[in-house]
Amino acid sequence: MSGDIKFLLTEKEMPTHWYNIQADMPNLPDPPLHPGTMQPIGPQDLTPIFPMGLIMQEVSQDRWIEIPDEVRDILRLWRPSPLYRARRLEKALDTPARIFYKYEGVSPAGSHKLNTAVPQAYFNKKEGVKRLATETGAGQWGIALSQACNFFDMECTVYMVKVSYNQKPYRRSLMEIFGSNVIPSPSNQTDSGRKILQDFPDSPGSLGIAISEAVEDAAKREDTNYALGSVLNHVCLHQSIIGLEAKEQMAKAGYYPDVVIACCGGGSNFAGLAFPFAHDKLARDARVRLVAVEPISCPTLTRGEYQYDFGDVAGLAPIVKMYTLGAGFMPPGIHAGGLRYHGDSPLLSRLVKDGIVEAIGLGQTSVFNGAILFAKNEGIIPAPESAHAVQAAIQEALAAKEAGEARTILFNMSGHGLLDLPSYDLFLAGKLEDFPLPEEDLKVALKNLPRV
Ligand SMILES: *Cc1c(COP(=O)(O)O)cnc(C)c1O
Repeated sequence: MSGDIKFLLTEKEMPTHWYNIQADMPNLPDPPLHPGTMQPIGPQDLTPIFPMGLIMQEVSQDRWIEIPDEVRDILRLWRPSPLYRARRLEKALDTPARIFYKYEGVSPAGSHKLNTAVPQAYFNKKEGVKRLATETGAGQWGIALSQACNFFDMECTVYMVKVSYNQKPYRRSLMEIFGSNVIPSPSNQTDSGRKILQDFPDSPGSLGIAISEAVEDAAKREDTNYALGSVLNHVCLHQSIIGLEAKEQMAKAGYYPDVVIACCGGGSNFAGLAFPFAHDKLARDARVRLVAVEPISCPTLTRGEYQYDFGDVAGLAPIVKMYTLGAGFMPPGIHAGGLRYHGDSPLLSRLVKDGIVEAIGLGQTSVFNGAILFAKNEGIIPAPESAHAVQAAIQEALAAKEAGEARTILFNMSGHGLLDLPSYDLFLAGKLEDFPLPEEDLKVALKNLPRV
């Protein structure tokens, strides 16, 4: 086994601009609608919860958007992130395929989410906002935004899904170390929270409920805005730095991927790695396959409907056209908390609808098997979310072996799993099961889509 395994860029080689796929899409997503009037919303409608700097990115059709120096200075703490060739895994699989992965677990937050938390805090700070409110499910986004607010000397309040608040105390500690106020959701701090508690006092909470609480908090206070860690166009934009770096690194390695793979919760780490390659596909007819991987228990892209739906439970956030399982969907307690949102990025949804991106679903037992095979060979413990991409890459490498093809595979290791060891324990004890979403549940979940 010889040849390089690490492909690094210097700080000077870090991208100066983000890539905006809206400039290249054959069809843009349909416009977001106001949840009250059901009419298309304009930039002005979003000003109670977002700063104009981010709203303009949300609607921009410029291909390249400059990364401000103040943002680059913080990103440089861990970027450019490394690209690895998984030579030991290739050998273990006895495959002719070349497996590369981009590693985002080197960020201080342990995942890709800090790539967008930093610019979001920056653009808010620049417009005089003193405090950000947000939600977090498993905790990664809450940690990233807490760190970013700390860097820019802003306050941060995190509504954390109650079941995670109780089950993942270390995630809460991390947010508190960086100075955030962490509130278990549903809470009695907001009308949306109080209403849920009245009807379901023992509610374990959900991302959709926590989003309602955070949006309400932000809309009611002049000094406060809302921040979302995935789904939105400006989040996908900020994450594009992953794929832009990866393209340079693949060039250094001397290969171009046949297939690019990432896991998909709201779609941001997938967008981050894959959209710069989608650029090649759309603008230059590159023959690269782009594969989004989701859990079979929350099969938004593979079994959901492409429809307008609410982004949150209380119906406070804009209604967007996306693949969705219905805003009231209660995902089973699978161990990839970051992949349990009922919807998906409207940009990614449109690309799936148009056949530019493929989607597949995996069960969590095969996902943990793949994660452990990867860890044993490469030494990194994947986050359970990222493990979906790992397992899909392994399947692709085995298919290449079957076909006798030396395919080049690139996947995103969106984060490390060092705060997810209880899930690994359960897997090792044989206590994890697969939960394919029953057809009946899917029908029920999809019954309450808004009529537009
Ligand atoms: C949040 C998270 C995800 C899922 O979110 P996307 O927006 O789909 O990227 C994936 N991996 C990790 C490590 C996460 O923290």
